[in-house]
Amino acid sequence: MTDSPKRILVIGAGFAGMWSALGAARLIDAANTNGEPIEVALIAPEPQLHVRPRLHETNPLGLKAPLLPLFDATGVRFIQGSVRDIKAADHTVEAVNADGSTFTVHYDRLVLASGSALFRPRVPGLDTAAFSIDQISDAARLEAHLRGLANQPDSSARNTVVVVGAGFTGIEIATELPERLRSFLGANTAVRVIVIEQAGAVGPDLGAGPRPVIEQALTGLGIEVRLNVAVSSIDIDGIVTSDGERIEAKTVIWTAGMRANSLTKQLNAERDPLGRLHVDANLRVLGVDDVFAAGDVAFATTDDLGNHALMSCQHAMNMGRFAGHNVAADMLGSEPLPYRQPVYVTCLDLGSWGAVFTEGWDRQIKLVGNEAKALKRQICTEWIYPPAADRTAAFDAADPNVTVVA
Ligand SMILES: Cc1cc2nc3c(=O)[nH]c(=O)nc-3n(C[C@H](O)[C@H](O)[C@H](O)COP(=O)(O)OP(=O)(O)OC[C@H]3O[C@@H](n4cnc5c(N)ncnc54)[C@H](O)[C@@H]3O)c2cc1C
Repeated sequence: MTDSPKRILVIGAGFAGMWSALGAARLIDAANTNGEPIEVALIAPEPQLHVRPRLHETNPLGLKAPLLPLFDATGVRFIQGSVRDIKAADHTVEAVNADGSTFTVHYDRLVLASGSALFRPRVPGLDTAAFSIDQISDAARLEAHLRGLANQPDSSARNTVVVVGAGFTGIEIATELPERLRSFLGANTAVRVIVIEQAGAVGPDLGAGPRPVIEQALTGLGIEVRLNVAVSSIDIDGIVTSDGERIEAKTVIWTAGMRANSLTKQLNAERDPLGRLHVDANLRVLGVDDVFAAGDVAFATTDDLGNHALMSCQHAMNMGRFAGHNVAADMLGSEPLPYRQPVYVTCLDLGSWGAVFTEGWDRQIKLVGNEAKALKRQICTEWIYPPAADRTAAFDAADPNVTVVA
């Protein structure tokens, strides 16, 4: 694919990639250039948005949204494939098709938006015996396993799930589980959910603000929490903790930590401890010509107070809009818009107990229980989904001045 017009290539069809492509297409459309056409292309394994923030829910295979109608409406070209190599010096990427054949795509400007993956440290048994909810396929595997538990003889191990990590994802899946397990195993089954956290408090990165509410929900749902404890080993019948305790459990779910997608390592650029690329105010990768980054692969400043984007949907969506705008502005020779997102909120699902919604980086509680749950549902079923496959509506939504707080 080297026979192209000028091309902006976006890698990834997640929140950052989808909005990058729309943001770039919007500006090019508005510029109404009569010069050489500029193609906006997006490469990803599938033309679908995978709704990762919902992967703690039941029926994960349905948590994807089609993107081809939206791309057709907005003139974004979809290229099916998985990028294996970024050759920044040549302005090309090498990709592989579903059938295993490789191909090359040339770009004039690149937006890397290939997301993140669960961090898997070298804990014996983690790769073979633990479940996760990192990607749809992982969550689907867990779902099939949980449903299959009903076919196993009733035992304490069958009815026990260990969740490793009491961060955002760990809390969301743990609080979802009591009800979900009872739906598979019977309403009167004595289910146990045990959360293991090596820090001294639940939600260590969420700070003190929402913690009392989280603790109330965990207690209310009967979830056991072990703090200051790590996992030494995992097998199909349970775990051994760092203080030597054996916990019998047929289900162990690993949620502890994320790392930026490994394509970030192929660029000769500085990365943060999570593997994210340092970017400037316009989301251009520092030190790499013609490459921008957005979403979970980008370490970006959000405001003048020194806050940085988190690996989160709300940051990925807005970074995408800005990166798309700025990569197109760079090609058109127009002014970039520095990425700014001073408003930060958190909405944490707490299963059948409800949810907690906070505002600000100190996470002041604004809503709890059912009210927060209604907001969480709206965020997760409406706000983070792609816009309608309508050119005008999609371009309006892709305006970087429209900040989405989710
Ligand atoms: C269980 C769970 C719960 C979460 N809950 C929340 C929440 O409540 N709120 C919140 O804000 N965030 C939440 N998050 C985080 C949020 O999902 C991520 O921050 C967000 O998905 C990041 O968007 P992204 O576009 O950067 O990456 P992703 O959504 O991961 O998308 C990456 C895209 O890149 C593609 N890709 C990857 N590698 C390649 C390659 N080599 N070639 C081509 N394409 C490639 C992928 O197929 C995908 O299309 C949660 C995450 C998980 C896993």
